[in-house]
Amino acid sequence: MRKKRVFVTGGAGYIGSHVVKLLGEEGYEVLTYDNLSTGHRWAVLAGDLVVGDILDREKLLEVIKSFKPDAVIHFAALIVVPESVSRPLKYYRTNVVGTLNLLEAMKKAGVSFFVFSSSAAVYGNPEEIPIGEEHPLRPINPYGETKATVERILRDIKLSGDPFRWVSLRYFNVAGADPGGKIGFAYPDPTHLIIRALKTAKGELKRLEIYGTDYPTPDGTCIRDYIHVEDLARAHILALEYLLEGGESDAFNCGYGRGFSVREVVDAVKRISGVDFEVAERERRPGDPPALVAKSEKIRKVMGWTPQFDDLELIIKTGWEWEKRLTSRKS
Ligand code: UDP
Repeated sequence: MRKKRVFVTGGAGYIGSHVVKLLGEEGYEVLTYDNLSTGHRWAVLAGDLVVGDILDREKLLEVIKSFKPDAVIHFAALIVVPESVSRPLKYYRTNVVGTLNLLEAMKKAGVSFFVFSSSAAVYGNPEEIPIGEEHPLRPINPYGETKATVERILRDIKLSGDPFRWVSLRYFNVAGADPGGKIGFAYPDPTHLIIRALKTAKGELKRLEIYGTDYPTPDGTCIRDYIHVEDLARAHILALEYLLEGGESDAFNCGYGRGFSVREVVDAVKRISGVDFEVAERERRPGDPPALVAKSEKIRKVMGWTPQFDDLELIIKTGWEWEKRLTSRKS
């Protein structure tokens, strides 16, 4: 039997590269399509890489037509929330128009299975915690709007009766790195808490700033559902299998269903790195909901997702090991 072929946009990026690696290990034939704006050639550990942009419609169609994938996993997107506020058009173009280009190319090439990287940002300020998939999509920034817009496009494709089927994975706070140490987070100017704390421990940042200590949470800092990138990568493989086996188009949360505060994360990073770095308490960062925790039963029940890294220490440890290696790496 021919190996199943998977076309991966953004496969040279942080989450995409972990999925590409796993696809290779699971016996899929993979082709990564990435413009290398934030991704790295060295991060693509399975299959070939085509350097291309999802905004280049002709190239995208040509590459898909010649690869003839069974399914597409779509990571390529812009992901920095504050930048999305200052440059909304750029975000709508890449994240919405780029995805439309991909969906149209898939239609032309007769590819009908699609896994989409969505985000907990589609929920905005949640009405209740934990957040279930049925919660209304009410994003509070342009980044979240672009993800919600694509989800609405996907919903409408489903309603149209098109045989095309999709899974949208709504990521909570992704962190950690490949336990084998080959890949991990490697973007310039990271804004995420765990990465910034690790870089502070490493001495790359002078101090870690805590954005807000007066939230209505037990220790006053925000609570997030941190999920290990390896467990998230596994969710993509399961989503692919689900679609190939006839599963209905649907959205699934990707989180563990428990949360940690900023202070808890900072303490854990200090403990694991052995560095007592400087911490400064600052004003709240605009647009941060006090708590974001996933209801995670749906993906566990429907796809049989069983996390292997649901442990903050392990998430930070793999991230720390990677961060130490990263110093010597160049793109
Ligand atoms: N945060 C912080 N200091 C930092 C980066 C983040 O206090 O240097 C806080 C941020 O305000 C939020 C939480 O950590 O409450 C998680 O933020 P992150 O940017 O990692 O993810 P988000 O939940 O915004 O997607």
